[in-house]
Amino acid sequence: MSEERGMAVVGAGLVGSLMALLLANRGHKVDVYERRSDPRKVGDAAGRSINLALSERGWRALEVAGAVDAVRSIAMPVKARCMHALDGKLTYQPYGLAGKGRFGHDQSIYSVARGPLNRILMEAAEATGRVNVHFEHPLSDFRSHPEGLDLSFATGHTVRHQRLFGTDGAFSAVRQRMMKKDRFDFSQSYLDHGYKEVAMPPTASGDFAIDPEALHIWPRGHFMLMALPNPDKTFTCTLFAPYEGAQGFSEIPDAAAARSYFEMHFPDVLDLVPDFDRDWTENPTSSLVMTRCAPWHQGDRVVLMGDAAHAIVPFYGQGMNSGFEDARVMADLLDAHNGSPQKESWPALLSDFTRLRKENGDAIGDLALRNFVEMRDRTGDPRFLLQKRIERRLTDRHPSIWKPLYSMVTFSHLPYSDALAFGRIQDGIMSEVMDRDDIAEAWDSEAVEHHALQLAAERLPTYAQPS
Ligand SMILES: Cc1cc2nc3c(=O)[nH]c(=O)nc-3n(C[C@H](O)[C@H](O)[C@H](O)COP(=O)(O)OP(=O)(O)OC[C@H]3O[C@@H](n4cnc5c(N)ncnc54)[C@H](O)[C@@H]3O)c2cc1C
Repeated sequence: MSEERGMAVVGAGLVGSLMALLLANRGHKVDVYERRSDPRKVGDAAGRSINLALSERGWRALEVAGAVDAVRSIAMPVKARCMHALDGKLTYQPYGLAGKGRFGHDQSIYSVARGPLNRILMEAAEATGRVNVHFEHPLSDFRSHPEGLDLSFATGHTVRHQRLFGTDGAFSAVRQRMMKKDRFDFSQSYLDHGYKEVAMPPTASGDFAIDPEALHIWPRGHFMLMALPNPDKTFTCTLFAPYEGAQGFSEIPDAAAARSYFEMHFPDVLDLVPDFDRDWTENPTSSLVMTRCAPWHQGDRVVLMGDAAHAIVPFYGQGMNSGFEDARVMADLLDAHNGSPQKESWPALLSDFTRLRKENGDAIGDLALRNFVEMRDRTGDPRFLLQKRIERRLTDRHPSIWKPLYSMVTFSHLPYSDALAFGRIQDGIMSEVMDRDDIAEAWDSEAVEHHALQLAAERLPTYAQPS
């Protein structure tokens, strides 16, 4: 027999916990169903990235939820990208424009640990007194009736709810059930690359082993190592490499082979990772999946958000941020109905959500893939590096005309689809500028600058960014 409840959130990950909090803040009673055990009792699950880059879109959603202060206490500012060449030379690229950061200093992204962030959001939701988290409740199916939705769990019982927020990640069971309906589009593909993490502990004197205010990248063509700092003075280092082929995981059968691989490609890292063999052996090699689907809702009762709606590759650091933005947009839509829409308002509200978010989910998926290709194929190309220098000069001298794509994505609330469109226009402009005969010797001349600005004036809309 089923009892009847109001709001259900399936998946107590980052986006589900935030959505539960946003619903509770609007007076709703919420039941959250999570497949895993309570991490407060059993520790965090292995196999997911340990730390994440949180940026402006994510902060805005946390602000709407009233969770900024708690999250800020575990967030580390990361001000620049630090590129490590094979010969050990370091090159710093600041992330943003000076003096415009969220917390009053230079624009930064923030490194946050997944487990503590998830716990803060879940506990904030529980602290409202309106949210009940049911662990070890994997959703297996749901059925829609005129009176409600019957959710079935692998535990064998069924519960009736009025609405279902599907936040159960890239392999969403909610989405799989929606796929059985007519006219639901879905596509999935895996990157040829996977990733593996190893930990870089503090030095003997208790300090960070490398600069903690930077995201470190060792770009090596079609593979790379990245490292993000943690508040406990460790770094999480992530190797992204192809599964097969040259420099791929298939060529690294064991820890000894991995040592040789690191000695050859990342020689400055190995000495800083004392438990390398253990980490390499025990940590999984994980795949990177991309999914798309449409619509993101079903009727007036079910809606997908976060990775369940749009799983993307991690090369723009926007998976979680875009999922948080989904939740914030949903909160805005609820607020247009004083937080608690009437029954008859739900069909339009959910279809508005798909209309507002779907093209942005697709756009950030495209942007993330494009960044991967750029990092993989072009960071060593002198012509590309020259183009980046010209763009940097344009930004420094004409910040209101030439906004870097990275800033539009990371430090603004411009719809991702607009950022992608503007980025493509900028690409077209730069390709014409780079075709000039004098580009090699006169890249920093007034003539080159004037040419780029003229094309920008003709082609780029004035994109005042909404705050
Ligand atoms: C290597 C890597 C690095 C990344 N770096 C960044 C970054 O720097 N910045 C960034 O913004 N994003 C980053 N991401 C992306 C980010 O991890 C995801 O976008 C984010 O975790 C999505 O949150 P979510 O809540 O939608 O899904 P998830 O975090 O996957 O949570 C889904 C939850 O649903 C539960 N669940 C699954 N199935 C069921 C079921 N049937 N019933 C009940 N519960 C279920 C799961 O146990 C889980 O708790 C990265 C991803 C990877 C892989």
